[in-house]
Amino acid sequence: EDSDGWPDAQWPPPSMDFSKPTIARAYDALLGGKDNYAADRALAEFATENIPGLRESAWENRKVLVRGVRHLAADAGVDQFLDLGSGLPTVQNTHQVAQAHNPAARVVYVDIDPLVTVHGQAILADNDRTRVFTGDAREPAEVLGHPETRRLLDFDRPVALMLVGMLHYLSPEVADEVVSAYRDALAPGSYLFVTSLVDTGLPAQQELARITRENLEEGWARRPEDIEYHFGDFELVEPGLTYTALWRPDELIDANNLEPGEQLGMAGIALKKK
Ligand code: SAM
Repeated sequence: EDSDGWPDAQWPPPSMDFSKPTIARAYDALLGGKDNYAADRALAEFATENIPGLRESAWENRKVLVRGVRHLAADAGVDQFLDLGSGLPTVQNTHQVAQAHNPAARVVYVDIDPLVTVHGQAILADNDRTRVFTGDAREPAEVLGHPETRRLLDFDRPVALMLVGMLHYLSPEVADEVVSAYRDALAPGSYLFVTSLVDTGLPAQQELARITRENLEEGWARRPEDIEYHFGDFELVEPGLTYTALWRPDELIDANNLEPGEQLGMAGIALKKK
């Protein structure tokens, strides 16, 4: 106890070390958000200097998240979302996009960074159809069995499982077991929504993976076929797995003239048929 008699009063708590960057905070810094610290901004700056178009690619990823959730809620009629590695709240989060189309839609956010839960609970205080908890996506049994997941989501009905900007934090050793456990837990009519750092042979892609691994522990750039593998027997909806900017774009995009930042990530959504 400290002098105020408050047990273990300490900010930041040991689980939050603000002297080292985290994925969620560095990504928030890339997007120009406010929930980041000097170490996160330094890493975002360093990575931006080394990877042309990195900031743009972070925004492309946010934009495809919005288009993907809009498609799932508005066209596919999905009303349950499990968003893994959801990140710090930013503009147009999953629940805002989904609930704009269907106010009854339920969203569970999971992130390994406890700061996400702190900020998430603040913005969700008056929204009983959306919950956030701190968890490791690499522990599917714990995530799927968590009381918040069970309270909000009905796995006998379709759920959209989101690994958006997240698959590349799963190492090749664990990714198959982890993603297939989530696929298996879903009912027919469910969807898997993935965006990931890709390796199509451009040096910046593996360079970004290396910078990420060295500073944030995990970071893997996968070939398109290795990303597709994680959809298992789910069927990719149109236009399949593509560079994020080309996935159902709102405006016309010239696929032969992509900017460097438009060639770092790919997106795909697939349906579980049976
Ligand atoms: N999904 C959001 C988006 O696409 O804009 C955020 C993407 S951000 C690049 C990746 C997020 O995944 C971070 O918030 C990070 O904390 C989280 N993350 C990384 N590894 C994780 C894990 N094993 N379990 C849960 N979350 C994880």
